[in-house]
Amino acid sequence: MLSYEQARNKVVEQVGRRKGPRATAVVSVWDALGLVLAQEVQTDREYPPFDRSTRDGYAVHSKEAAPAAQLKCVGEIKAGDTVREALAAGTCLQIMTGAAVAAGADAVVMIEHTSREGDLVRFERAAQPGQNIVPRGSEALAAQTILTPGMRLGYAELALAAQVGAVHLQCAQRPRVGILSTGDEVVLIDETPGEFQIRNSNSVSLAAQVRIAGGEPVVLGNAADRIEDLGEKIKRGLKEDTLVLSGGVSMGKYDLVESVLKAMGTEFLFDAVAIRPGKPAVFGMCQGKPVFGLPGNPVSTMVTFELFVAPAIDLLSGAQARALPLVEARLAEALKEKPGLAHFLPAHVGWGGGVPEVKALRWQGSGDIAALSRANCFLVVPADREKIEIGESVSVLLRKDAV
Ligand code: AMP
Ligand code: MG
Repeated sequence: MLSYEQARNKVVEQVGRRKGPRATAVVSVWDALGLVLAQEVQTDREYPPFDRSTRDGYAVHSKEAAPAAQLKCVGEIKAGDTVREALAAGTCLQIMTGAAVAAGADAVVMIEHTSREGDLVRFERAAQPGQNIVPRGSEALAAQTILTPGMRLGYAELALAAQVGAVHLQCAQRPRVGILSTGDEVVLIDETPGEFQIRNSNSVSLAAQVRIAGGEPVVLGNAADRIEDLGEKIKRGLKEDTLVLSGGVSMGKYDLVESVLKAMGTEFLFDAVAIRPGKPAVFGMCQGKPVFGLPGNPVSTMVTFELFVAPAIDLLSGAQARALPLVEARLAEALKEKPGLAHFLPAHVGWGGGVPEVKALRWQGSGDIAALSRANCFLVVPADREKIEIGESVSVLLRKDAV
């Protein structure tokens, strides 16, 4: 059985192979958060465009601003002021953060390190050449490429585009992700379930996870545990860029997803992974489309989505697959799990006086959505560990929407 890293690599390899033109659209910088860029963006001029003061203080010739020296202040420069005149010898100029440093001045002394009487400014310490000035062009040159195709647009990237006036951006369209739940017991979320039925919560969590991953969810409803219904709905789902199913992949008599996919010509890359929850997860290529069969227990569905579907959505968007958001933390309470499978336990990570500290939460197993709603991460127990002692270092898979 594959480890989760091996299984994830299979997804990345397989989906990464599918090259070819991707649909793009021009999107306003206001609406492009989370999209993947499909063009280069270049600077329109140097950045900063002038020698910029990073402090409120005095622009000086550094040699003249020696301890106890006094210089005459001959004017002021506000942010946005046009600055044409050079700084005359023996003088200084009051200057504000963000203002252009006058030619000749090679340092800005913070106002806190000066005292002033009338026009005379006294300096408390030696000024170093270049201090508190960001030189023109030091952040970027003119016509320099600052954003490239495949980059995901977060708030910093959007600000960078806005800074250079790139207000419309050619972006990859979000990949459309079909979401199909299965199970005779599953009813719509706005229906009242019968005594032995359950609402379709997986479609809701999957749609949210697809959005967070950068995809466009296409919710296709629920298929009964019958070959014909499954076949029809899977066929519909294959119209999308990728299809994610929940339920019907375990060993039960009515777990038909794998056999229906097989009959439709699916080539499976894995049909089990050494993890708990989520062991029965399957992944294959069906009629040219990546298809995921995730186990139906809600927490299993959530974990296996993060491990296997999220990187596929990255690749289908024209980006690289992002690494799993794993960090190291100190275990706050000893743990014991059955070895053989890697465990992903709902857990809470916090700041434990200098180091991240993590504690597994009490839960009733992979159907326990309530436990996960109190968690901000999954504590990863490696397959070869049975006991982990308090204070040991463990890996933690962050819940991207909860930290
Ligand atoms: P399965 O993977 O089909 O064997 O289902 C495992 C468990 O997950 C069962 O208890 C199902 O009732 C539950 N389950 C399956 N599909 C859903 C769904 N769409 N929403 C919530 N729970 C589900
Ligand atoms: Mg089922």
